[in-house]
Amino acid sequence: MRVLVTGGAGFIGSYIVRQCIEKGFYTVILDNLSTGKEENIHQGAIFYKEDVRSERLKDILLQEKVEMVIHQAAQIDVQTSIKNPQYDASVNILGTINLLEACREAGVRKVVYASSAAVYGNPDYLPVDEGHPLKPQSGYGISKQVPEKYLRLYRELHGLDFTVLRYANVYGPRQDASGEGGVVAIFIDKLLKGETPTIYGDGEQTRDFIFVEDVARANLAALERGSGQVVNISTGVAVSVNQLFQMIKDCVGTETVPRYAPERPGDIKESFLAPLKAEEVLGWKAGIALQEGIRATVGYYRQN
Ligand code: NAD
Repeated sequence: MRVLVTGGAGFIGSYIVRQCIEKGFYTVILDNLSTGKEENIHQGAIFYKEDVRSERLKDILLQEKVEMVIHQAAQIDVQTSIKNPQYDASVNILGTINLLEACREAGVRKVVYASSAAVYGNPDYLPVDEGHPLKPQSGYGISKQVPEKYLRLYRELHGLDFTVLRYANVYGPRQDASGEGGVVAIFIDKLLKGETPTIYGDGEQTRDFIFVEDVARANLAALERGSGQVVNISTGVAVSVNQLFQMIKDCVGTETVPRYAPERPGDIKESFLAPLKAEEVLGWKAGIALQEGIRATVGYYRQN
């Protein structure tokens, strides 16, 4: 199989690329390295330093005879989407439309799309299943949702197949701990440096943390299954930020007490996603428990 992974130099994308190469796929990365890193680029992949909004996409897809696209490239920061919604929409919405147009013109068979729990907004009920109303509370939530509609449209109009994967909170080694990276990476990084992490709100907000290798495995499953489907990628286990902090603290072996700060706009109070459809549709379920994933992640940050 010939696969192109957008955002393949990023956190999740780099795991997907590795699993594609391990499967023997001819694997192409397209990434502008805005948050992705050169050291994440797998030696066995072909790399194009290119923007998803570029006019060259169709030529690259044709030149590399790409059959399937796994679309990870995005502006991923909720706070940036609130401060700079034009940039967020330009990458996430217009970038995806540009990619879909190129896929249509180049005869790509399928796009697997990285969506997010952010499309649901504050839940009406828990766990959140795929039929839950979509009420995003940030530019990011909107800019992840709109491409889902375009994917549906391109399937209807042009027969370009898709699977949408709505990820819960993804964590694991290599996640960026600077700025607004994932909370697991930030807590581990600060605790290992002897600094005090900040918890926004009272810390009783819940999330569903999914290990990055599991997410990559779901993407590979979606290359062959889940035609035209929207699927949550999650553990279905709710963990509060306070509980998460305690687990990481125990693993790092420190007595540091967190600092509490007011909750931020766009942050969601409670969220965990029902994972059952993924098992039905993709034959996928999460394999790594949070404690095990935290241990692996702490081990990585200790060495790096
Ligand atoms: P990341 O920032 O590590 O990866 C994104 C990659 O996209 C980076 O390599 C970046 O350089 C690239 N990119 C950004 N803008 C680009 C552009 N205009 N053109 C080309 N490349 C561009 O983030 P990640 O956590 O690996 O996220 C991957 C995907 O998963 C994103 O679509 C994100 O919305 C989605 N997602 C992530 C999480 C999470 O918890 N990390 C949760 C839900 C959904």
